[in-house]
Amino acid sequence: MLTDQDLGFDRQHLWHPYTSMLNPAPVFPVSHAQGVKLYLSDGRELIDGMASWWAAIHGYNHPKLNQALVEQSQKMSHVMFGGLTHEPAIRLGQHLVALSPAGLDKVFLCDSGSVAVEVAMKMAIQYWQARGLPGKQRLLALRQGYHGDTTGAMSVCDPVTGMHELFSGVLMQQLFAPAPATGFNRPLQPGEMEPLRTLLANHQHELAALILEPIVQGAGGMRFYPPDYLTEARRLCDEFDVLLIADEIATGFGRTGKLFACEHAAISPDILCVGKALTGGYMTLAATLTTTHIAETISAGGAGCFMHGPTFMANPLACAVATASIELLLSQPWQQQVAQLEQQLSQGLAPARQLNGVAEVRCLGAIGVIELAQPVDNRRLQPMLVEAGIWLRPFGKLVYMMPPFCMTAAEVQQLTHTTCTVLQDYLAAG
Ligand code: PMP
Repeated sequence: MLTDQDLGFDRQHLWHPYTSMLNPAPVFPVSHAQGVKLYLSDGRELIDGMASWWAAIHGYNHPKLNQALVEQSQKMSHVMFGGLTHEPAIRLGQHLVALSPAGLDKVFLCDSGSVAVEVAMKMAIQYWQARGLPGKQRLLALRQGYHGDTTGAMSVCDPVTGMHELFSGVLMQQLFAPAPATGFNRPLQPGEMEPLRTLLANHQHELAALILEPIVQGAGGMRFYPPDYLTEARRLCDEFDVLLIADEIATGFGRTGKLFACEHAAISPDILCVGKALTGGYMTLAATLTTTHIAETISAGGAGCFMHGPTFMANPLACAVATASIELLLSQPWQQQVAQLEQQLSQGLAPARQLNGVAEVRCLGAIGVIELAQPVDNRRLQPMLVEAGIWLRPFGKLVYMMPPFCMTAAEVQQLTHTTCTVLQDYLAAG
């Protein structure tokens, strides 16, 4: 049991994400989690609308995932991947090659989403070096995009929200196209692709790749855009000889209603990043996949190999739980579950449209977003949500949810209804 002293230690010594050490926002101690519920140490239980930032698609403490971890831990928790291999990595690789968009046959298993993005960027740069075009080493990214917190990944995040000013002397100077302007189910606006086309045309000699989050721009704004944009982006990359990196770290494994969001446009990227839900949210693991052509070109280049190899590459525990998570997902009618969640979230969040101070409500797959007119005061809103029995983590102007796929209709109803009610009180008092 945690004492006040323990919580004081947390406050004084433990850094939480994006948090001040001078005046840290309150944190809520969790004692355990089960299914779609988080249990706080003071006995309160919360319905979890966040799936631990997109990851816990099957909910918490799942017997099948637990079993995979326990069984693997009794064989080996980790061995280095340099010069050794093992069944968990091979099984996971087999699933990823079979399930990912066509042509992505080479798998690099790495530590986290941000690292998967670093690996993707390095693959693209090494590819062009090996092709004798070392000048092609910049990235083109979309405004309102988010790709992680490491230095390379930060350089392709939205320049305004992506900390570029703080690190301007350090970050690689990348290029940015406007964010897609149209919502998911709307036709592209006339001329919408022109800025992207112009950037690709003018900079193709120095561009290694275009990086984007397919269909859903997540942490940069929770924006949904049409499959036609993705189809066009793919076509333009081909036209101007620039690789396409799809960052499916948030969207992968069913969240948008397709196993991978690229499927909405029936395209394959040249490089794909996955993470988060890869292990069902159990532990950190990510993967960067690419084509045989790119992998072989890199390998035939001057370096003779791809220059990356982390200590915990292909960690057997993580690979075993990832395999179990993928098999569990495929054994369930997940498309139906996600389609139902989309319908329930749309219905349940609709009343928020009537609230003064709400700019937009939008849902896609198992993602529900309420965009406010003003940034959220989270120090005020979060305790109100917890008091009402739900766990959300609003940021910026966004109160959003992406629940575990196993959430029942009654729980979604409680989550959405409570969110609308709390938001009403919050906006009325603000
Ligand atoms: N890309 C996207 C699209 C993400 O949403 C995230 C995480 N929010 C990342 C990359 C970085 O992943 P990680 O936090 O595991 O480093």
